[in-house]
Amino acid sequence: MDKHQAVWNEKVVKTIIERFEKRGLEGSYAPNAGQAVAEVLEMIPQGASVYRCGSESTHSIGLWEKIAAIPGVEVIDPFQPGLSGEENIETRRRGMVADIMIASSNAVTLDGRLVNLDGLGNRVAAMMFGPRKVILVVGMNKIVPDLDSAIARVKHYAAPVNALRIGHKTPCTVNGLCADCKTQERICNMWTIIEGHRLKGRIHVKLVGEDLGY
Ligand code: SF4
Repeated sequence: MDKHQAVWNEKVVKTIIERFEKRGLEGSYAPNAGQAVAEVLEMIPQGASVYRCGSESTHSIGLWEKIAAIPGVEVIDPFQPGLSGEENIETRRRGMVADIMIASSNAVTLDGRLVNLDGLGNRVAAMMFGPRKVILVVGMNKIVPDLDSAIARVKHYAAPVNALRIGHKTPCTVNGLCADCKTQERICNMWTIIEGHRLKGRIHVKLVGEDLGY
């Protein structure tokens, strides 16, 4: 990475982490994905149950294979092949009381708010309450100036790209643009803005000095 970019990352992230702390959130920085994976693995105790929520960021860095290899750890994984529709929902329900939930955040504002949009709601629900610990792995591409830019980023970029990734039949997968559809496969049903948390440090945001996910 360009050295000026690296310095900028570190300066901006330091400020965001300070702002997280004022909100009862926790943050840390890894300059690259490899270090992020190692540091997340260190946060998972033996015997923990870990709920996997939809996230290209964590998938793309090979995190889940490594978590599954920790002795005694149970991965609650609705993405495992062969689940029926009912089993998939039950797996997501079970994840709501896991020890740890891991995903990303669709956007992080400079003042330390976490902005997300879900189709089914299990990911944003688990972020807010349920699992004892939440770990969010977030690349620099998801840092935005403010709430308006967070919403714009999610609605006009992250949602259409994720609809393409999942293979949904929505207007945005045809031309890349949101048509505020009302289709069965709409992935834009539940917005959340996490301003803070009373359970200090329950949410840990691992910021990564690379672009990850969408
Ligand atoms: S509302 Fe529909 S068209 Fe718009 S981004 Fe979401 S899924 Fe795509």
